[in-house]
Amino acid sequence: MDVIFNCPKCEQELAVDSTGAGTQINCPSCGNLIFIPEPESVISRPGVDSDNRAPRMEAHPINPISSSAAAKVEMHLRVPVHSTTESLIGKPPIPLEVAAKETDKKIRTKTIRHTDCIEVGHDKFDEVITNFLAKVGEANIISINTLSYTYLDIGTQKLLTDFGVLIVYRA
Ligand SMILES: [Zn+2]
Repeated sequence: MDVIFNCPKCEQELAVDSTGAGTQINCPSCGNLIFIPEPESVISRPGVDSDNRAPRMEAHPINPISSSAAAKVEMHLRVPVHSTTESLIGKPPIPLEVAAKETDKKIRTKTIRHTDCIEVGHDKFDEVITNFLAKVGEANIISINTLSYTYLDIGTQKLLTDFGVLIVYRA
């Protein structure tokens, strides 16, 4: 025998085996903690059958619609509803090759100093940076920072100041 009653919070019709009467369950529809009512207390009151919010004792629900609804809910009541629902809606796992690609990329830096780009009188600073940026790809560039530094010029034995860039990128 099933106790058929309506959730006091969301009105969902619920059916549960009468052995569960008097115990607490989580409503499978709204998740609120609700009491399964004792059917005896209602059967002794005549005329309450017209009030479908009152618990009643039935071997078979009245109409096919409530029958199927009750049967459906009954199954839910025997299984922890929220945990099964959550696992079903869980985010689909990222395909392995995509995940691997994402995690393979690390943040790196590249320092390009102006003096390193001078080749026999030709200033290749812009060319070196242009080539580097093209190789890394615009989407992987995080930031480009200018820097200045001092170095010992071998010819003059003097400390000179020059400039360069620090490129932060993903690769
Ligand atoms: Zn409810």
